[in-house]
Amino acid sequence: METTDVLVIGAGPTGLMLAGELALAGVRCRVLERRAETSNLTRAFAVHARTLELLDARGLADRLLPRGIPVREIAPAPGATVDLGELDSRFPMVLIAPQSGTERVLEGRADELGVPIVRGAEVTGLRQDAERVVVELADGGEESARWVVGCDGAHSTVRGLLEVPFTGTEYATHILLADVRLTAPPPEAMFAETGPSGAVVVVPFGDGWFRAIAWDREREQVPLDVPLPVEEMRDAFGRVAGTDFGMSEQRWSTRFLSERRQAARYRVGRVLLAGDAAHVHSPLGGQGMNTGIGDAMNLGWKLGAAVRGSGPPWLVDTYATERHRVGAQVLALTDTFNNLVLGYSPVRQFLQRQAVRLIVRVGPARRIVVGRLSGIGIAYPRGHGTHPWTGRRAPDVACGAQRLYEVLREGRFVLVDATAAGALAEEVEPSLPVTTVRARPTPERPDAMLVRPDGYVAWAGDDESDIAARLRHGVGRWCGSPARVS
Ligand SMILES: Cc1cc2nc3c(=O)[nH]c(=O)nc-3n(C[C@H](O)[C@H](O)[C@H](O)COP(=O)(O)OP(=O)(O)OC[C@H]3O[C@@H](n4cnc5c(N)ncnc54)[C@H](O)[C@@H]3O)c2cc1C
Repeated sequence: METTDVLVIGAGPTGLMLAGELALAGVRCRVLERRAETSNLTRAFAVHARTLELLDARGLADRLLPRGIPVREIAPAPGATVDLGELDSRFPMVLIAPQSGTERVLEGRADELGVPIVRGAEVTGLRQDAERVVVELADGGEESARWVVGCDGAHSTVRGLLEVPFTGTEYATHILLADVRLTAPPPEAMFAETGPSGAVVVVPFGDGWFRAIAWDREREQVPLDVPLPVEEMRDAFGRVAGTDFGMSEQRWSTRFLSERRQAARYRVGRVLLAGDAAHVHSPLGGQGMNTGIGDAMNLGWKLGAAVRGSGPPWLVDTYATERHRVGAQVLALTDTFNNLVLGYSPVRQFLQRQAVRLIVRVGPARRIVVGRLSGIGIAYPRGHGTHPWTGRRAPDVACGAQRLYEVLREGRFVLVDATAAGALAEEVEPSLPVTTVRARPTPERPDAMLVRPDGYVAWAGDDESDIAARLRHGVGRWCGSPARVS
């Protein structure tokens, strides 16, 4: 029987990102993928600012940027436009890039790091004990590992085998998807319009083909297995947007059922769930793939530490607590977008749209909404009595000749020392996975930050007499071994 440290089930964006993270953490892993061939199916187009930052922390953003078109303004509701230029990020944009391109970038990295991606390997069974997990394959074979992560999508077999409830509901309006050519395409990189009979979106693939998406009230319950001709798409666009942009040739189309569900648990023993296997929501807001990549980034280094036996025993459980909360927030956000665009109560919809227009005009409220949408505002809960920066996204500060997100590319903790003495490195045991860098002090930031490999602040402190002792405690807590006692 083939055996490894971690088996990742599913080679979608979540599984591919996780595979790269595990390899970076120095653990052996294999990806088992049901499909025999690489997928060319594109669902996601929107890559948000925080995802680009996370990819930058692995040197991947520069590979993805040329595959997409940056959009610098978004409209969270009709008549409410937000300038993303005000995001405090290296990437103040939504990058419109086909999911297949994002997957190529992630798969390329997994390949470079030597992760075997086994295609045509469908998981059908699973059993576990205190030491290991055995998965059964459709061809009768078996593989075993110390940990298994189900990244096998919305209809996750792994989740089903664990008997974890996938709680939620279906949206009433089926989504129409078609890849078409347009003789008169819209000038915007991402065109979106809503009206009484639904909503439509058009995004370019960049090769002359466009993805047309429609939520058509008049035909919202047409069964999913009824073919979708280009004439139906034209008709939906004509009614909602007043034009079909000269829609002609169609190479692919489908009807899609959108759901709003979240797994009740993200961990059962030695098996974890991530990506669409853990949460699905309305595609409005473009959050699904972004959240899956965030899950993978959060889990990879923690599982790596668990396999190496180098992290504290509670570390893996923080994946479930931190990311279940984020998943619930994403469900709430996308559900609000869905109601705004497709809600059935005109009065409620009117009031909600007015509320969004107001929010967009008021700075602090706008920053909260844009923070959620872009992922920049995601923060993890901090323990009682800890520094207010604990759990926050670390800003990309200059550390000498490098940026923090360049230093993070090794997948280690980074201690950013902006204290006057600049001697905090001496407090950290050299064998621990911590790189120390110097930064210039600023009043806006703490004088010292221990940044996790996924770009969030594990510990922060200000330059006071007991800072060394507090740092030793913080490093010991997160890195699982006592820091050097001087
Ligand atoms: C119309 C539409 C538009 C969207 N737009 C956006 C957007 O703009 N931005 C965004 O972030 N998200 C968007 N999404 C959501 C996004 O596409 C998904 O969230 C994303 O694909 C989830 O990635 P994943 O890796 O978790 O799962 P998947 O991409 O579903 O990958 C799961 C993989 O597991 C494999 N698998 C399944 N079962 C097994 C098994 N038993 N054994 C082995 N392998 C198995 C599958 O073959 C598949 O390759 C959109 C979705 C839709 C429908």
